[in-house]
Amino acid sequence: MTKIARERLGVSEATALYEKDLFELGEIADGIRRRLHGDKTYFNINRHINPTNVCKDVCKFCAYSASRKNPNPYTMSHDDILRIVDDIVLRDIKEVHIVSAHNPDTGLQWYLDIFRKIKQQHPQLHVKALTAAEVHFLSEQYGKSYDEILDLMVENGVDSMPGGGAEIFDEGVRDYICKGKVTSEQWLEIHRKWHQRGKKSNVTMLFGHVEERKHRIDHMLRIRDLQDETGGFNCFIPLVYQPENNFLNIKEFITANEILKTMAISRIVLDNVPNLKAYWVTSTVNLALVAQEFGANDLDGTIEKESINSAAGAKSANGVNLEEFVHLIKESGFSPVERDSLYNELKVW
Ligand code: SF4
Repeated sequence: MTKIARERLGVSEATALYEKDLFELGEIADGIRRRLHGDKTYFNINRHINPTNVCKDVCKFCAYSASRKNPNPYTMSHDDILRIVDDIVLRDIKEVHIVSAHNPDTGLQWYLDIFRKIKQQHPQLHVKALTAAEVHFLSEQYGKSYDEILDLMVENGVDSMPGGGAEIFDEGVRDYICKGKVTSEQWLEIHRKWHQRGKKSNVTMLFGHVEERKHRIDHMLRIRDLQDETGGFNCFIPLVYQPENNFLNIKEFITANEILKTMAISRIVLDNVPNLKAYWVTSTVNLALVAQEFGANDLDGTIEKESINSAAGAKSANGVNLEEFVHLIKESGFSPVERDSLYNELKVW
């Protein structure tokens, strides 16, 4: 292992890694990935459901919320959601990933009842639901503490939390792109409390918009600090900003070189987070496959349908065929391993 991979770097040292050659960074990150996971690339067979796009918040980067540039508000009925869930269970899908906008009109029970109904009908299905941003919204909207909301999630069948809503933790950038939403401290506090319940979660980072490299590193270091404390994050998921249909109005798209450097650096910096995901919905499948050689050991899953990033221009947001997915991983020189939502291995394909 190189000296860099063994050291714990601070903000300026880690930011300086961006000056290195892409392939040098890739080699270091690949060494860490192979030490942790060999040539295994994890994925799971999952279905995303986004039950409502009606939102009280006004994030500038958002193309999904009905109050922004998307003129088609919708709120799914529980029966609609349960019909989808019944169908996916028949097809042996093991995880349902439920994330919504912050709809002030449904009532708290609308959010909770759907988890309970899913769990009652399909106890074996893993329910990953409610970002920390949603937890904060429900807490404020209905006058409950974070602890009360988190306890209600557990009682109603939520198994793990997704990593959304983290965006970029730097307060200045956050103020500009999503003022009014959960703050960085609150986001981290909610995940701390979730981990203290013995539960697992993921953590994302939205990059490629107005943030600078140092902000990405600061974001990673705040994650590393909380992970030292709780050990509750399964996976770090860098999300590439999607430029269409929003109010950030970024003209230049981030380069593949910068995306891969960011993946590699996050593998180096986050020495205590076991998995690094290349989320192909925002990076494209092809770049996600390349990212396997830059530290990524997880390609999410087949997903089937995703509404949030597709609204912002993500071209590959409607799922991939399982056989094709497995074939692509093998063709790129890695070993596809189906996992469950908590990274237990289910099948080597
Ligand atoms: S990103 Fe989420 S919270 Fe922000 S406006 Fe969009 S749906 Fe609402």
